Amino acid sequence: MDNPLLAQEPLPAFPAIRPEHVEPAVRELLSANRARIGALAALEHPTFATVVEPLEELHHRISRTWSPVSHLNAVLNSESLRAGYNACLPLLSAYQTDLAQSEPLYRAYRTIAEQEGAALAPVERAVIEHAVRDFRLAGVGLPAERKESFKTAMLELAQLQAKFEENVLDATNNWNRPVTDASELRGLNDMLIEQARRRAQERQAAGWILALDQPTYVAVMTDAESPELRRAFYEAWATRASDQGPNAGRWDNSMVMEQILARRHAAAQLLDFPNYAQYALATRMAHSVEEVLTFLHELAAAARPAASAEFAELEAFAGRKLAAWDVGFYAERLQRERFRVSQEELRPYFPLPGVLGGLFEVAERLFTVRIRERAGVGVWHADVRFFDITTAGGAPVGGFYLDAYARPNKRSGAWMDECVGRKRLSCGAALPVAYLVCNFLPPGEGRPALLTHDDVVTLFHEFGHGLHHLLTRVDYPSIAGINGVAWDAVELPSQFFENYAWHPEVLERISGHFESGAPLPADQQQRLIATRSFHAGLSMVRQLEFALFDFRIHTEYSPAHGGRILEILREVRRAVAVVPVPEWNRFPNSFGHIFAGGYAAGYYSYKWAEVLAADAFAAFEESGVFDRATAQRFFDAILSRGGSRDALEAFIEFRGRRPDVRALLRQHGITVAGEAA
Ligand SMILES: [Zn+2]
Repeated sequence: MDNPLLAQEPLPAFPAIRPEHVEPAVRELLSANRARIGALAALEHPTFATVVEPLEELHHRISRTWSPVSHLNAVLNSESLRAGYNACLPLLSAYQTDLAQSEPLYRAYRTIAEQEGAALAPVERAVIEHAVRDFRLAGVGLPAERKESFKTAMLELAQLQAKFEENVLDATNNWNRPVTDASELRGLNDMLIEQARRRAQERQAAGWILALDQPTYVAVMTDAESPELRRAFYEAWATRASDQGPNAGRWDNSMVMEQILARRHAAAQLLDFPNYAQYALATRMAHSVEEVLTFLHELAAAARPAASAEFAELEAFAGRKLAAWDVGFYAERLQRERFRVSQEELRPYFPLPGVLGGLFEVAERLFTVRIRERAGVGVWHADVRFFDITTAGGAPVGGFYLDAYARPNKRSGAWMDECVGRKRLSCGAALPVAYLVCNFLPPGEGRPALLTHDDVVTLFHEFGHGLHHLLTRVDYPSIAGINGVAWDAVELPSQFFENYAWHPEVLERISGHFESGAPLPADQQQRLIATRSFHAGLSMVRQLEFALFDFRIHTEYSPAHGGRILEILREVRRAVAVVPVPEWNRFPNSFGHIFAGGYAAGYYSYKWAEVLAADAFAAFEESGVFDRATAQRFFDAILSRGGSRDALEAFIEFRGRRPDVRALLRQHGITVAGEAA
């Protein structure tokens, strides 16, 4: 067998992988897996050893073959690779669907749970519980007629969500702002103006044409000095795909939204959940509707006074009453005046080698591991480096690739992904391997890569995800590392680790001017840290408005009264919003996160995870941010446990109590009731 994608070596043979390997490898693997699954499903006396373990191994093999492919597609895209990748997507998705819908396997897992459950280790029971839960949520256990209705609702939902997105896209693409008076462009950056000039030229128009894409919208809101221009953009943006604004009634999503809520509600009820929110919570750390609403209201009660004070201060700074389209503009000015820190000016103080050294030191001190670069590992690009993680005694734990720099044909953004998952099964073992991918500015002539502090925070964030994947002690791939972790808890390790990038002791260690070696001057460090809480109240109430709106419409939908979308939005705004919003604002009509994407009844998780991370870090602040005993508890209860246990129980084991929202408020300098500021 010479297809490198089917090899089982500890690391993929990246230099040997060719686009023509992709489709044959996936086809061969899927057909072998299907044959094996057929045999497993037909077993008369299924047991953990004869069904669950082999399925875990098949899961591992799919990931071993597909992970390098999807990774290369993201970081070294080419036409031939993309063709192979796209050819495999429908094959994989059909395989996953068949697996998720398999009644014989569902029966087998339930039999094993009944007959062996009591004798199994907790982690083995967790593997089975996850599988049974997911079968149930996919409708596998329903009687024939209800199963048909469930499938129909899901299918229609997929079409409606696609329609929602199309409408937003069309509405966005079909508005622009022709500008003939140059003074209207004052404040905007040259690149944007040049783009607008070219757009006008292409259409043989005079002057400039500004489009309604997100970067332009954000730039106009923060930089454009003309209030008329800001208002026009705000109105066009906030009324997209609705019954209001410059394109009122065209591409209107109002009915689509109602239909989406109706299908979600129907699907949840077919599975015996009272509403869609409760259905969504079946796989989350938060368990009840009440719990989420209490959480959001608790944060709102504390954040609102802070937000009001910030808004009053901003109006005083501007010297007038502010409309919704003025806030971003004056906030930017106030921030510049107050902090005088620019990310670009910080770059010389954060050369990548020093930052990496400091980052590794933090992980080594906390979790008594060693991180060392290994030369000679086969990689996909000359800039990529490989690092081994071992215990202090030198026993191997795992490893990771670091692909740090932006380059053509690489997807933007930063992420951590699984290259190899950890497993220890009777048929063999594997150590975890991760990809850490960033898009930093590459090194220049005679100087290392220089990061902004935003970049530093990003690196710490992704490294936190990496530790979650790499330091896992779970033996079964489906719940090892980040697999099977509740979706609203999966950002805990990453956001937790971000805190170190803001800590004075760490800043001192990782910063060093690339020429002089001098650490970041104390006053600059202080101002940098202070930027973290700038307008914390205003940004929090904004997020809470979205989260409450999302959660309430997915809880309160009823066939008799429909979604009451605008009504609920008004109620939420009355309760939490601080910045005045015009009556014609229709932001839900383009709120793709919840109507088209995966955040339905899940927008709260942004704040939820921030609270977990802040509260976990507060435990370290109480005992010292490098305290070994606290770190060991964090490792034992959370970091090493993957999806093998309930996320709330894990948190309580670590913290000795439930998460406390006050940790996040304190972190952002928001006064907590009953405490001095
Ligand atoms: Zn993340």
